[in-house]
Amino acid sequence: MIIDDDPFVLRMLARQLARLGCDQVLPFSSARDALAAMSEGDTSVGLTICDLQMPEMDGVQFVGELGRIGYSGALAVASGEDGRILQTAEKLARAHGLHVLGALRKPVALDELRDLLARSAAHRAAIPRQMRPAYPPEDLRRALAEGELVNHYQPQIDVATGALVGVETLVRWHHPRDGMVFPDQFISTAEEHDLIDDVTHVVLTEALRQARRWDDAGLDLRVAVNVSMDNLAALGFPDFVAASAHDAGVTPTHLVLEVTESRLMKDQRAPLEILTRLALKRIGLSIDDFGTGHSSLAQLRDFPFDELKVDRSFIHGASRDSALSAIVVASCGMARQLGMSVVAEGVEDRADWDYVRACGCHRAQGYFMGRPMPAPDLQSWMVTWEGRCGELGLA
Ligand code: C2E
Ligand code: CA
Ligand code: CA
Repeated sequence: MIIDDDPFVLRMLARQLARLGCDQVLPFSSARDALAAMSEGDTSVGLTICDLQMPEMDGVQFVGELGRIGYSGALAVASGEDGRILQTAEKLARAHGLHVLGALRKPVALDELRDLLARSAAHRAAIPRQMRPAYPPEDLRRALAEGELVNHYQPQIDVATGALVGVETLVRWHHPRDGMVFPDQFISTAEEHDLIDDVTHVVLTEALRQARRWDDAGLDLRVAVNVSMDNLAALGFPDFVAASAHDAGVTPTHLVLEVTESRLMKDQRAPLEILTRLALKRIGLSIDDFGTGHSSLAQLRDFPFDELKVDRSFIHGASRDSALSAIVVASCGMARQLGMSVVAEGVEDRADWDYVRACGCHRAQGYFMGRPMPAPDLQSWMVTWEGRCGELGLA
């Protein structure tokens, strides 16, 4: 389906698509008509290309409507608008749950269109993602009792040298029926049902035990553990963490707590006291997901963080996106002035890697270097990574 109020553009696009072998093209000069055709008929449209600037119903409104009717095909926006507007429209469409293939700059080049069709075919071939179930708190309580939570660890790399300098602990639930369940499916349940302290205890204790094993094996790693703001409500938390580190034989400076604020805090006194006491105990404190939600400037001002983790939504693609890049560069500059180190998360490809090296981030984490893995896999990952360092221009 192609939608554009300019009849010339419409004809041109239809002809290009025909040349590329598309034999079923539905052209519409108004978004309203296109929508009517789509919600009426049983036409299973595989790909929709729509203009942004249109009278009556514009591309942004149209995208919202597509989301509402549950359109499951692929979508591309074509426009003569500048990059920022196109990117925003793309993000909006994603937020509506649509499968966005990208933006096309008008006039549309044949090669770009060919590329788009290939990606559209790939989307159709992909298996529909199942709705993720939410687990009731009883299940999680049982999982805690049965020891079904296991830690995975993702490498953190010093970008200047390529050396492995730390890992982030990411919890997984080995569910007896559903297999591996990711934290997005149970951390908020844990927070809502007073189970987050138990989760953190389990994760932290195992991470410290593992840190000790790595230390014994001659690996000098900082181990990061995610903590929820709700953990920072219990005044005994700093002593618990310090005692756990001591019992495991891990120096406090080898432990980092990553803090995300998922919702607004009414009373900041407890977290302020707890974070300050943790800092006095020389435990590393990292502000996680920096730049999103409430993890922002006010937190930087109020709490004694020594590390800033730039959220992955700003890192991946920053080399091609001037808005993202501006945010990353400013965050790095600010961190440097505050004497904090910067970790870039979400380094997914070579372009991201080259980018974070150039912009002054200290450490990097992401699929490009390594995915989260069970502790025993780290050694063999290291061998592979050291092999890749050569081709990345690292010693
Ligand atoms: P996070 O702290 O932002 O952790 C990073 C997430 O990004 C992880 O997802 C990781 O697998 C994923 N990731 C790593 N590299 C890349 C990349 O290159 N690209 C992309 N797209 N993603 C990447 P995961 O393991 O599903 O964890 C999700 C979130 O759950 C974490 O986000 C963290 O906030 C929370 N979480 C994980 N473990 C714990 C825990 O033990 N306690 C608490 N309170 N929260 C946890
Ligand atoms: Ca984290
Ligand atoms: Ca993050």
